[in-house]
Order: sequence, then C-alpha cells, then structure tokens
Amino acid sequence: MVAAIFWSALAMSAIVGVRYLLASGGFALATRVRQPGLYRGLERQMRREIGWSLLSALIYGIPAGIVAWGWQARGWTRIYTDVAAFPIWYLPVSVLLYLAAHDTWFYWTHRWMHRPKPFRIAHAVHHASRPPTAWAAMSFHPWEALTGAVVIPALVFIIPIHVGALAAVLTIMTIMGVSNHMGWEMFPRWMVRGPLGGWLITATHHQRHHDLYACNYGLYFRVWDRLCGTDRGLGDFTAKARA
Ligand SMILES: [Zn+2]
Ligand SMILES: [Zn+2]
Repeated sequence: MVAAIFWSALAMSAIVGVRYLLASGGFALATRVRQPGLYRGLERQMRREIGWSLLSALIYGIPAGIVAWGWQARGWTRIYTDVAAFPIWYLPVSVLLYLAAHDTWFYWTHRWMHRPKPFRIAHAVHHASRPPTAWAAMSFHPWEALTGAVVIPALVFIIPIHVGALAAVLTIMTIMGVSNHMGWEMFPRWMVRGPLGGWLITATHHQRHHDLYACNYGLYFRVWDRLCGTDRGLGDFTAKARA
C-alpha cells in the first residue's frame, strides 16, 4: 500500500512537472515570437524560476498522488465518471465552483503571505521575479507550494465533479498561471478593458500585483479584491514591452 501511494505521488509529480515545462515552454516560445527580446537579460532569473517550479511540481504531486490512489483503490473523493450521474448543467457549474473556491483560498492565503514574516520566509521567492516570465508560474517557496497543493485534492472530497470537468479546471489553472506571469496580454483589449475584464483576472491585472505588491491578490476573479478594497485596477505593460 505504501509503495502504491509512493508511486502514485511520484507519477503525479512527474505529470505536474511535465505539464509545467510544456505550458511554460509553450508560452515562453509564444513570447519569443510575439514580443522578441522581452526576456533579454533575465536568463539567470528564468533558471531560478524553473528550479523553484520543478520543486513545486514535486510538492504538488504528493497530495494529488495520495488522493488519486485513494480514489482508485478506496473509492475516496466525489469525482464521478458517469456523465449522467448529475444533470448536464452541473458540468459548467462545478467548474465555476472549483474556480471560485480556489480563488477564495488563494486570495486569503496570498494576502496573508504579504504580511512581513510569511513574506520573508516564503512569498519573497515568488516576488524575486522582477518582472516575472512565463517560467514563474510555479515559482514558489516549498511552504507556499504546499498551500497551493492541497486545494484541489481537498475540494474533490467536498464538491462533486466529473473527471472531464476536473481536467478543465486543471487546464484553466495551468494556462492562467502561466499567462498571467508572461509579461504581455494575450486576451483582446475589448475583453480585458471591457465589462468582462472588470471581473476576470488576466496578465494585465496580475502584473500590477508584481509591480505594486499590496494589491490585486486574486487568482481568477476580481471579486475579493473589489469587495475588500485591494483592487488597484489594471496595469499597463505595453510601453514596457516595446521598450
Ligand atoms: Zn504572481
Ligand atoms: Zn504576492
């Protein structure tokens, strides 16, 4: 049993690590095409980002691996595979519930990590990227990685989700985690600057967190930031990107 859990965790770490390398590598490549020279002079920083991110992948794999093993071997979790087990409208609703729950957890833990002591001990690693690149998506100190690693493995015990919807959640998590750090905006201006962008977080919003620190703490939605008065609006890196 212990060996099975060990291998499950190791397999999950490998999956998260490969997923990170593919997603960050893909967006780094897109950056090279769309914004040539944007990462010039950041080679050492990017190597550090990759190192921390791979260590984070290892940590992410542990709770995920334990829960994946329990799901298969012991029938743990509320993950379902029969799409008819819940009404079809529940598929998008479950995705939104997961994103909202993760966003809430992230907002409050992130805000807490900006207090002097946790910042010094853990969160400073993430902010050592100035400015962050596509490789910074999982560039966290192990303590911070641990706070992120437990979210989805905990939620699958609480909120029912189809395995395909869970894959959608993980895909959104990966793409937004990478693209929010890559130093340019990939979404169209009408979306980012329009009513939708007033509630959704994209690179332009998170960049401002990395510029100003004590604001824009959210992950997917601006709801908590706006409710708590920590939303400082959108950044603007078009000038910086062209410089
Ligand atoms: Zn960040
Ligand atoms: Zn921060």
